[in-house]
Amino acid sequence: MPEGLIVKALSGYYYVQGTEGGETMQCRARGIFKKRGESPLVGDRVIYGETENGEGTVDRILPRSSVLMRPPIANADLAVLVFSVIRPELNFTLLDKFLVHTEHAGLDSILVFTKMDRIPEGGAGDEIRRTVEEAAKLYSSIGYDVLLTSAHLGEGMDELRQALAGHINVFAGQSGVGKSSLVNALIPGLMLETNEISEKLGRGKHTTRHVEIRPLRDGGYVADTPGFSQLDFAELGIDDIGSCFREFRQLSAGCKFRGCTHTHEPKCAVLSAKEQGEIAASRYDNYVDFLAEWKENRRRY
Ligand code: GDP
Ligand code: ZN
Repeated sequence: MPEGLIVKALSGYYYVQGTEGGETMQCRARGIFKKRGESPLVGDRVIYGETENGEGTVDRILPRSSVLMRPPIANADLAVLVFSVIRPELNFTLLDKFLVHTEHAGLDSILVFTKMDRIPEGGAGDEIRRTVEEAAKLYSSIGYDVLLTSAHLGEGMDELRQALAGHINVFAGQSGVGKSSLVNALIPGLMLETNEISEKLGRGKHTTRHVEIRPLRDGGYVADTPGFSQLDFAELGIDDIGSCFREFRQLSAGCKFRGCTHTHEPKCAVLSAKEQGEIAASRYDNYVDFLAEWKENRRRY
């Protein structure tokens, strides 16, 4: 039985691209999935077969490396977190929040700072440039690739193509930061289409049931809907938050107490690293704020 990749799901059909290439095959999922309460997802690697009527069936789902709910995609492995450097300006709280969620979902992340062409010359522009450079230095030191781009001028687009190649990529970021512009530069017409359709139907963005991953020129795929739109901490345990800060994760092995929250405990390796200036204050402060937010959510539900 051949192996393939589900590249699209629409109205109960799954479109499977054979590993060997060729046309995609329109498939139904076997009844067994429903009985088990499972369903195939876009991004799933599957075993599939052809039936008499020219359609096919998805027979088996191969083990997944990740599962996202919004959009519903399996095996995404790279989150492309997009932030504009101006209008709107860089938001480090939101940035760290996105990283907590991508880490929790088991995806690697790259940070794409865009609209670089919009930074004015001199004065306020110098200040913005300094902030961007410091942020790039901080997050690369933690282990994230940071790209400086302009969708309008094409700056950084080759690096972006390289970073995305071979992965199943999900873009994320606030509205208006320039996600569609970047994706359209990679795959002309992609996200624009989604927005236009939803506008015509008079619905909010991305409410259509259709999910698709689109092939990239150099291999890999981009989901046609941005991800990580819901950034509360409902699905996380309190220990998860600290372990989603990459630079805390290793250090925490050196904390005296298991389940250390890195806030008040004696002999906390994270706190002492913070005091030594080895952890950025902005990261630590966001961590403390997220813990408070997590507790506040628990009280409410
Ligand atoms: P999205 O909501 O994140 O998909 O953002 P869009 O791609 O729709 O972009 C929002 C606005 O920012 C639009 O008016 C774009 O033309 C503008 N924009 C996006 N990228 C750039 C860029 O690199 N440079 C400049 N100057 N404007 C940009
Ligand atoms: Zn600790």
